[in-house]
Amino acid sequence: MTGSVEVVYRGIFQKHLGQRITRGVVLAARKEGKVGVSFGRYGDSPERNGIPAKSFAVVADTEEELQAYLSRYEPNNNDVTVAVDDTLCKGVESWAWYGLQPINKLTRPGGTVLVTSIQTPEELLKDCHGKNAEWNLAVIKGMASFSGLWVYKDDHTDVRVLGAIAKLAPHVVKRQSVEAAIRDEWKDELKVTSARKSFDRVTTRKVRPDEGNLEKPYEFQLLKWWEMKEGLVIPAIPVKQQVEGWDGGYRPGRNPTFKKFTTRTMRPVVDFETCTKCTICWMQCPDSCFDITPTGHYDANMEACCGCGVCEAVCPVKDCITMVNEQAFEDNASQFEAHQKDPAAYKAWLTTTIKDKAITHRSHGFRYRGQYEEELAQMAAGGDGESGD
Ligand code: SF4
Ligand code: SF4
Repeated sequence: MTGSVEVVYRGIFQKHLGQRITRGVVLAARKEGKVGVSFGRYGDSPERNGIPAKSFAVVADTEEELQAYLSRYEPNNNDVTVAVDDTLCKGVESWAWYGLQPINKLTRPGGTVLVTSIQTPEELLKDCHGKNAEWNLAVIKGMASFSGLWVYKDDHTDVRVLGAIAKLAPHVVKRQSVEAAIRDEWKDELKVTSARKSFDRVTTRKVRPDEGNLEKPYEFQLLKWWEMKEGLVIPAIPVKQQVEGWDGGYRPGRNPTFKKFTTRTMRPVVDFETCTKCTICWMQCPDSCFDITPTGHYDANMEACCGCGVCEAVCPVKDCITMVNEQAFEDNASQFEAHQKDPAAYKAWLTTTIKDKAITHRSHGFRYRGQYEEELAQMAAGGDGESGD
């Protein structure tokens, strides 16, 4: 019998976390006399900030079963899909997939999507796409654990996920073997306790096929072999795109098949009333995300924005651009168009959104030596442990 676990994580910020979880699954399975492999697959380089990436663990009773399972392109019938950042529930643009891949796409019918989140399952279901079968949504309470390229934030998210996997898929790994593997690998009894607590506390909800976000995920078709052009021909991206309903303005041409927005964990929210039209955000955005509107404002295009935060950093007007946690949004609609439609309602929405500390506050990992130690000290002093960006 084979079993598999897929961990969907964010490049750089969670690279080590993803690897530790899948490695932990294999080490635990070994305690039961099984064989297994842990490996990574990437839609883009996992060395890029926030890019959705995947790590898999496959375990089997015998070598033959393992080899047979691994001969497929990638595990596509996973017992558990782990999303270690809840904004990944909106879907990912991943390796071997063209368009937006729902978070539960590679979860087997009756399998479980396990999310670390402070949101409720009902809130998360607004993001998770519908699936043509019953599945389960499980939640481990907690913020996304983000660290850096060289730093691992050892906040026990790895072992908490492992403990929950043992509860959700005991045929893959059992609690006792997870605990034994943690003892051997990390030699930390506190981590064993964290795994056990997570085993006891993880909550699960059954999801019917008619639940979740029933919107059809974005996809595109590759050229068929008979449509291929001779030689290596790559169609160029147009210089300019027309925007329906805009008289004037300018939108640069963008890649029509790679949108980038699933890389984002925060998005810029623009106050068009205080904007001085200085052009700095437009010039500095590394991804040319700003559309120039007919009124001369700059509208961050939410299909193109990867959430790097440069525009917030360079905007000279206080609170004119604010990065807000992606969980506060359900679509990629134009902020400028919402503002044009009802300026007062937009201002009210903007004020509430950017003032909500729980929504705006989100750590993007560590940027200087000693920052993790500072966070630990803050937590010990009673703060939330995140120094803000
Ligand atoms: S966060 Fe701002 S600067 Fe970064 S990609 Fe988005 S619009 Fe551009
Ligand atoms: S940088 Fe700020 S003030 Fe300048 S155009 Fe962009 S949003 Fe407006």
